[in-house]
Amino acid sequence: MSSIPPIRPDLSLTEGYHSPQVAADVRLNTNESPFPPPAKWSEDLLAALADVSFERYPDRPATELRAAIAALHGVTPEEIFCANGSNEVLQSLLLAFGGPGRRAAVFEPTYALHSHISRVTGTEVVEGGRTEDFRIDPADARALLGRSQPAVTFLCSPNNPTGRAEPKETVLAVLDAAPGLVIVDEAYGQFSSWTALDLRAGRPGLVVTRTFSKTWAMAGARLGYAVADPAVVQACEAVVLPYHLSAQTQLAGLLALRYTEEMEARVACIAEERGRVAAALGDLSVETWPSDANFILFRPLRIDADEVWEGLLARSVLIRNCASWDGLSGCLRVTIGRADENDRFLTALEECLR
Ligand SMILES: *Cc1c(COP(=O)(O)O)cnc(C)c1O
Repeated sequence: MSSIPPIRPDLSLTEGYHSPQVAADVRLNTNESPFPPPAKWSEDLLAALADVSFERYPDRPATELRAAIAALHGVTPEEIFCANGSNEVLQSLLLAFGGPGRRAAVFEPTYALHSHISRVTGTEVVEGGRTEDFRIDPADARALLGRSQPAVTFLCSPNNPTGRAEPKETVLAVLDAAPGLVIVDEAYGQFSSWTALDLRAGRPGLVVTRTFSKTWAMAGARLGYAVADPAVVQACEAVVLPYHLSAQTQLAGLLALRYTEEMEARVACIAEERGRVAAALGDLSVETWPSDANFILFRPLRIDADEVWEGLLARSVLIRNCASWDGLSGCLRVTIGRADENDRFLTALEECLR
């Protein structure tokens, strides 16, 4: 009789990735945009959906969307790979270039999905560390990459959850020392003063990933992409499921690119609020780290982080509790929201720290 076999022993499911979706009035836990996409975008999308032939499979190579993203970055469509969120982009890269007998290097603490997706694809994870203030030490990175010879090396710039963009010299040192692909995850790239996209010339192993989930205010649409050498794009196309990108996802992304100015205005507004929240945190008894993204990592100094997190939730303010994560003991991460949400957070935090 059929039965449920044990799941793959190499997974021993380390409970998967999860970010609790708890009900709260003010949700500042997953780094989404606090603003909806432009109303005009929604109108465009509804109108365009009326013309979709839903009885047919979508355009498999996502021709128009890739051309539009390529134009945005001044590259060719052959250098663009799109998928359902940048997480599926990362998964495709690991399916193609990772796998049993290969390694992926990460510098912890960083985005948990990099090691998680590596493991799910059977790729061994090797972990480098960071300094006290969460920088990657280029000499340590060289030693790790030399020793472990990873097929894939992950960088995250700005780094989630610590906040800072990696300095260009660090990325250059890693590119120099890494024997395989270097994936720079730029989910928050629009908040940063520089992009690894500018380093691609003459470095075919450099892959930059971006997402529509954060600055484009489209987390619900599930769309991300990589800018990479055409050979890398072809490898991703070979492993991803056929017709993985639905007609509606392709349209949503294509139409969003008409509203680049609105996106940039949202980024500017959030960056301004970030300055205000950072200054206010500076007056409280918490340690904070500088951020080049739409979130701030901080550590309560006198009161236990779990207690502060619970206290905030009791006031219907949900933030991310990183206190139990390796290298982040006692830390909490708050997403920058609208001004009124940030005020609610700051008032509640002040009460919790009393
Ligand atoms: C939010 C985030 C993503 C986005 O993933 P999607 O699948 O595109 O929603 C990717 N990388 C990092 C570092 C993130 O913080």
